[in-house]
Amino acid sequence: MTSIDLHCHSTASDGTLTPAELVRAGAAAGLDVMAITDHDTTGGWAAAAAARPEGLQLVRGAELSCRWHGADPAIPLHLLAYLFDPDEPVLAAELTRLREDREQRGERIVAKLRADGVPITWDEVWGYAAGGSVGRPHIAQALIRAGLVKTTDEAFASAWLGARYFVPKSDLDVFDAVRAVREAGGVAVFAHPRATKRGRVVPDELIVALADAGLFGLEADHEDHSPAERAQIRALAERLGLAVTGSSDFHGTHKTVQLGAFRTAPEMYEKIVAAASGAPVLG
Ligand code: AMP
Ligand code: ZN
Ligand code: FE
Ligand code: FE
Repeated sequence: MTSIDLHCHSTASDGTLTPAELVRAGAAAGLDVMAITDHDTTGGWAAAAAARPEGLQLVRGAELSCRWHGADPAIPLHLLAYLFDPDEPVLAAELTRLREDREQRGERIVAKLRADGVPITWDEVWGYAAGGSVGRPHIAQALIRAGLVKTTDEAFASAWLGARYFVPKSDLDVFDAVRAVREAGGVAVFAHPRATKRGRVVPDELIVALADAGLFGLEADHEDHSPAERAQIRALAERLGLAVTGSSDFHGTHKTVQLGAFRTAPEMYEKIVAAASGAPVLG
């Protein structure tokens, strides 16, 4: 059976394995196909490609921080973008802007924490990000080091990064994002669309509108979805003619989920590859 995991993070964002370690771990876990999908960056692509073990197909992608402005306040969401041209100027400029905004936002969160006497520094957090896209898991790491919480999950509770010390990012409008991914020859899949544990989720009407705008698929099998939610997403995808995927959203030790814990069916993967023209699958 072909084992396909299309959503994995490395140290290019908030995963804990380097891109090279990630592809080796993917092969060791028995994956036939894996995607590297760091937040708002293609910074891990080259190292992952260089270290790709024989027999592992590598899909290069990214997870884009987006927002839907049809609700008040706007609802954040994530789009997985696969096999796009990393040099296409509009999308590349947006990715740069998103990463810069992550830095400013991270500094603001650290300043809020410090104002309440929490003994962490931006330098420390910046060091954990190690040149990759900065995210709250890096701030969580500093909170763990300072002995204030024991786990990343605890750091995301409302007393900490989930609400009290939450600062929003200035994300990409989701319709602009779908358009930019397509213009760059890529394929856009809505990541964990029903993940209520992360906050508000969007209504089905938005998914209908996104499908009209060129969205290609929905991530159904994800640890943050209940079995009922997975079934609802499959039904919606079928109704709208969208592909469905399943993936681990692996983050190394920042999460407990393992590589290949959720997988994508080969026929869905083939549809994604056939629809993309911005970058080839490697291997
Ligand atoms: P950020 O991108 O900075 O807003 O941080 C959110 C990221 O942290 C998401 O990619 C999540 O995958 C990751 N994360 C890790 N643990 C958690 C958690 N317990 N709750 C929410 N997000 C988490
Ligand atoms: Zn993440
Ligand atoms: Fe996500
Ligand atoms: Fe993710």
